[in-house]
Amino acid sequence: MGCRDQRYSFLVIALADCNNFYVSCERVFRPALRNRPVIVLSNNDGCAVARSNEAKALGIPMGAPYHQIKKLCEWNGVTVFSSNYELYGDMSRRVTSVLARFAPELEIYSIDESFLNLSGVNTPLLLSQRIRKTVVRWTGIPISIGLGKTKTLAKLANRLAKKKKTGCFEIRAEQDDILKQIPVGDIWGVGHRLSIRLQRVGLNNALRFAQAPSSVIRSIGGVTLERTQREITGIPCLEMEQVPQSRKNTCSSRSFGRPVETLAELEEAVANYAVKATRKVRSEGSLTSGLQVFINTNRFREDQEQYANSRTLAFDEPTDDIIRVVQNAKVLLRSIYRKGYAYKKTGVILLDLIPKRSQQTLLFEEHGSPRRREFIDAFEEVSARYGQSCAFLGAQGVKQKWSMRREMRTPRYTTCWDDLVKVF
Ligand SMILES: [Mg+2]
Repeated sequence: MGCRDQRYSFLVIALADCNNFYVSCERVFRPALRNRPVIVLSNNDGCAVARSNEAKALGIPMGAPYHQIKKLCEWNGVTVFSSNYELYGDMSRRVTSVLARFAPELEIYSIDESFLNLSGVNTPLLLSQRIRKTVVRWTGIPISIGLGKTKTLAKLANRLAKKKKTGCFEIRAEQDDILKQIPVGDIWGVGHRLSIRLQRVGLNNALRFAQAPSSVIRSIGGVTLERTQREITGIPCLEMEQVPQSRKNTCSSRSFGRPVETLAELEEAVANYAVKATRKVRSEGSLTSGLQVFINTNRFREDQEQYANSRTLAFDEPTDDIIRVVQNAKVLLRSIYRKGYAYKKTGVILLDLIPKRSQQTLLFEEHGSPRRREFIDAFEEVSARYGQSCAFLGAQGVKQKWSMRREMRTPRYTTCWDDLVKVF
């Protein structure tokens, strides 16, 4: 078996994962909520997307619709929050910056997970404990760290680390007794369907999975699953991705807090999403070659008339001009808008992003005049420095009644001057 391959003996990958991340962010600013049941709801206060351990113990499942668990929460004194993504995004940035001090090679995997390359470290487990202590002391966020020779092993070790008091755990590929206890469905990359097919042929735990002939694994889940198998045996097949791949498209959309019927309100929403998407593209140093706008009604409301449509245009020259994107997005919206429907969602997608350096300019440049560019840059700077409420386009609207429902959102403690914690 390949697991005992000496070539990879020096490798150590760590997966640092924030515990119940959104809940932990809320607790940093409400320490009285420690050891108490807390949940955070998804957009529009739809369902539970983060639960404290105490809330899990009450039997609140992940993704439970709020209206189904509302009573249970009231009876048990569960504190319920709307999601505050501005806060979570900022806390995530802080955690990552602490982690980066300990490892030269770091891959941000999600808002609350990062892979660290600790290869060559003499005592990775001791270092992990130090990392953990530093992160909680500097940011207030508790994390767990899993160690292994590959990303897949590190992921698996992290699940076990969550149950340890030290919050850290290392899996070695030769630790058969540990692998034997892990259900095959817990392996990263083995989804529900694959796990059923694997169990059908008797591969119900990680050890059996690791020891199965690779031809069997390939016949069940193709080369991707074969790669997962190799990773479980300690042979790295997934590399660290330090530089996020530049994206080809970017989308900005949300469901409305309530059904929206008027064109004026849809226009405001589309203008806001267009601004947001264009800012994302600008911050990555890219330009967009095309634009798509879509609208749809709520397809779950079978009692209501349904309508969905989208339209796309290509810019004659790739652009990152916010005003131009907004103007065109509104034109597209007007062409697909139909009166008499209750709209649930609209969004803007910027297509075929290209790096700014590779831009080819038109011979007769019309939109990119220097003054226009200076204006946009100044506008962006004011809005970045003084907040988006200081500089925005008229098209974005002022009251934004269509925007998300977030009745129980906490203040944006770390990113908004007005929401700073006051100490008297
Ligand atoms: Mg987590």
